[in-house]
Amino acid sequence: MQLLDGRATSAEIKEELRLAVLKRKEEGKKIPHLAAILVGNDGGSMTYVNAKVKACDAIGFESSLIRYDDTVTEEVLMNKIESLNNDAQVDGFIVQLPLPDHIDEMKVTQAIDPKKDVDGFHPVNLGNMVLNLPGFLPATPAGIIELIKRNEVETEGKSCVVIGRSNIVGTPLSIMLGRNKSPGNCTVTLTHSRTKNLKEITSEADIIIAAIGRPEFLTAEMVKSGAVVIDVGTTRVEDATKKNGWALKGDVKFSEVADKCSYITPVPGGVGPMTIASLMINTLRALDLQGK
Ligand code: NAP
Repeated sequence: MQLLDGRATSAEIKEELRLAVLKRKEEGKKIPHLAAILVGNDGGSMTYVNAKVKACDAIGFESSLIRYDDTVTEEVLMNKIESLNNDAQVDGFIVQLPLPDHIDEMKVTQAIDPKKDVDGFHPVNLGNMVLNLPGFLPATPAGIIELIKRNEVETEGKSCVVIGRSNIVGTPLSIMLGRNKSPGNCTVTLTHSRTKNLKEITSEADIIIAAIGRPEFLTAEMVKSGAVVIDVGTTRVEDATKKNGWALKGDVKFSEVADKCSYITPVPGGVGPMTIASLMINTLRALDLQGK
């Protein structure tokens, strides 16, 4: 079994981006600036946003963190998005999800200028992704593709089962892996909570991607020997042995699945760091798209 080390691969990408920023500096070009809007005090969201800001610092990007209380009105948030859309200093920005119930996430997502939508969630960018046109790829699927590519995992002609059909992970990933390119050319099965006989389907797969948010859902009996297993899930579960009282668990029962795999991602340290690396790649690309 070979570990697909997202931390190591993302460090490699971040170093490339750091050099690209230095080059831009030498050429007198603008330094990329990523802004992040964080609403409320959810521990997971704060951790993700802080990791994104830290990655910006390491690469040499400028960053701004804009925080609101979870009582913020939709109007205030929409006005902020409008001002970021028009701020020439900010090249790309994200609104960390989830948002409180009184705020319409789809409305917020659609308010972001697609040229600054470095999360790749805007319908224009998702549409471009489906049609294989230039735009921003959603960060997590793009990170998984990059992880596969840089670790030379063969996908050509393989059967791939994606578990989970969210708009930001499972659905776009199933399209990207089925595309006629490398990595790609998989025969993809997209599964979800209504799928019957999931175990029979996953046990036939060469590649399994679990993106459901159910800790340790994928067990050894669901995986064939030699499969590639990518674990997207990140759920906080109580763990008294940890200083903060919780541990991050993936959707894969790593302790029993790892021995059967050819490749597997750990949680943490697999897909998470690759998502952040993709966001950074998108932020640098934003400058090209905006002609800066
Ligand atoms: P989501 O919107 O939470 O949706 C979950 C998906 O899983 C749905 O499509 C659901 O099916 C499916 N599902 C739930 N139970 C299932 C079951 N028993 N069998 C088969 N399918 C089942 O998904 P998401 O936003 O993609 O998040 C999934 C996980 O990935 C979460 O743990 C999230 O925290 C994590 N995540 C991690 C990263 C990262 O960077 N590491 C990024 C994004 C998300 P239905 O459609 O039928 O309801």
